[in-house]
Amino acid sequence: MTETVRCFIGLGSNLDDPQQQVLSAFDELAKLDGCRLGTRSSLYRSDPVGPQDQPDFINAVAELYTSLEAEALLDQLQAIEQHHRRVRERHWGPRTLDLDLLLYGNDLIDTARLHVPHPYMRERGFVLWPLAEIAPELTLPGGGALDSLLALCPMGTLERLPL
Ligand code: AMP
Repeated sequence: MTETVRCFIGLGSNLDDPQQQVLSAFDELAKLDGCRLGTRSSLYRSDPVGPQDQPDFINAVAELYTSLEAEALLDQLQAIEQHHRRVRERHWGPRTLDLDLLLYGNDLIDTARLHVPHPYMRERGFVLWPLAEIAPELTLPGGGALDSLLALCPMGTLERLPL
């Protein structure tokens, strides 16, 4: 049997029906070759990071089991983003779909294309809260139990949407 790695993917959208963008991205993750979708979080509404003159974001986190190498998985995530005709005109600006590889097992990855754990995830409520919903027991590779990170990152205006 091929060995699988437990990964977590962060999803975000703030254009063109963001809830639908995220829900259809879950379906596309489920169809990736060499991958099996595990638990998916609720959808969360978050304030934009960076420029404020843009719509709110819808965020979620998905658990994904994969037999792909990390960079091959990133290729697949980027193909899904392209499929959603990702619009990205400025840094931290609006986008139809953003997929981040948050965690790849317990690996620490630092290559030209890939930094895992995702560099901003320890301080972003819209990542930490959905992640805690589906994997409350996690400790991030390199240190940091999820509940300690959450204690430093109150929910604030982050809103968990009803199912
Ligand atoms: P962004 O659109 O801001 O998410 O950035 C996309 C770029 O970040 C791509 O060129 C990726 O190669 C790079 N990147 C580095 N680490 C990661 C990661 N953990 N997940 C997704 N993209 C990553």
